[in-house]
Amino acid sequence: MGYPIQLVGLKGQRVLLAGGGAVAAEKAVPLIHAGARVHLVAIEIGQEIEELLPDVWRFDQRPVDEGDVEGAKVVVAATDDSSVNRALVDTARSQGILAQAADDKPYCDFYSPAVIRRGPVMMTISTDGGSPLLAGQLRRLLEAAIPRSLTAVADLMVRLRSRGLKGLQKRGQLLRALFDPTITRLVDSGDTSAASERIEVLFNEEEELFEPGSVAIVGAGPGSRQLLTLRALDRIQRADLILHDALVEPEVLELALPGTQVVDVGHRASPHASDAEGVRRIPLRIPLMIEGAMAGKRVVRLHGGDPFVFGRGGEEVDALIEAGVTWEVVPGVSSILAAPAAAGTPLTQRDLARGFTVRTGHDTAGPTKGVLDPQEETVVVLMGLKSAPKVLQGLIKEGRSPDTPAIAVAKASREDEEVVVGNLSTLDKEIHAAGLRGPATLIVGEVARRALERIESLEENPTAAAIRVVAGIS
Ligand code: SAH
Repeated sequence: MGYPIQLVGLKGQRVLLAGGGAVAAEKAVPLIHAGARVHLVAIEIGQEIEELLPDVWRFDQRPVDEGDVEGAKVVVAATDDSSVNRALVDTARSQGILAQAADDKPYCDFYSPAVIRRGPVMMTISTDGGSPLLAGQLRRLLEAAIPRSLTAVADLMVRLRSRGLKGLQKRGQLLRALFDPTITRLVDSGDTSAASERIEVLFNEEEELFEPGSVAIVGAGPGSRQLLTLRALDRIQRADLILHDALVEPEVLELALPGTQVVDVGHRASPHASDAEGVRRIPLRIPLMIEGAMAGKRVVRLHGGDPFVFGRGGEEVDALIEAGVTWEVVPGVSSILAAPAAAGTPLTQRDLARGFTVRTGHDTAGPTKGVLDPQEETVVVLMGLKSAPKVLQGLIKEGRSPDTPAIAVAKASREDEEVVVGNLSTLDKEIHAAGLRGPATLIVGEVARRALERIESLEENPTAAAIRVVAGIS
């Protein structure tokens, strides 16, 4: 141990490289890259180094001579004769020149690290000369983890700095630029100038208000990250702590930047949990949220769909007000809207439905009488998959015809979304026959017939099929 970290500028400097084999070629590459004038001396050369010859400053085909050392900035001895290598290093050292004998630790004044380059950024990995193999493998590992947009971002940072622009230190903006999917896509397609423009836009964007020590109650939409709002994405990417529901999809959580603490509060915090005396426990997520904010974190409480739809966002707001913590709510695309969209079923449509109501399958209060005639009203039922028989029967009891179209939409907006179609008397059977699994939303009313039309159009054009239809109206 104990080699200091230093990068020696070799641009235009003469570097003596002795040896013509694969090891010498390996040593030559970074030297050439650094702009050194590589003076190669070798009795014979292998194919690897032959390919590098156009970039070699001078090649002398002869045995290396101690006189070659004189005047060199650095000496790299990589012949297959270790006594020759050592003699070269000794000579160099006596002249105060940095030298290195390949694979001969005591004869190394410096090591050649494994290098990762992204534009102006250079990362070096060294194992103190111990294991170049390990260093190389670490390099591959790290390369995969480094955002591809780093080159474009770093180039722009350098340019902006040389123009005297400051104020780009904001963690959020920089990280967001590094992980912005659009920038990555532009870099991948080779359009670096468009990537730079996009980065500049990101840098210049006014940051939205999201103070440290506050909580954003955010709707994550029904699953697909495509259905996030821009504000939800902003909050997710600037959060220090994310507390999320079980319903929030991994592809949404993956948008959080490295270093963000992500906690699933979906299962452990059953809002119905009560202790032995039947006293209702405070759900775990609320103290976590408040503690986080009190510790100065930016906390995101991430709900599936919209936080204010059967999501207990209301209770959370109450608790935050009581604790004196600053809060905001970012709405999300609720399954109320995403499920009909997936099935191609409007919620209202002239001549078919004048309005809609939203219910929960957990409701034990019995049938409700709406202001609309049941024939003119669409009913959307969340959390109604398990209790579908009761829910569907209840809707018949409210005065709907048993052949009123009814559908179940599961995992709306996700890749595995499914639609089961039927009517009030058949849907439950169809759901079972299809083995449908939630989360699913039921839609009942004349409008649900439209799902069939969508399905028929998909059947005509199977390549356009975005939904899997698992049962049909008999
Ligand atoms: N706040 C959420 C609802 C939470 S209640 C929202 O606004 O969507 C959970 C219920 O939402 C589930 O039982 C199911 O009925 C519905 N749901 C959630 N995600 C869904 C999805 N991707 N597709 C269909 N229904 C979904």
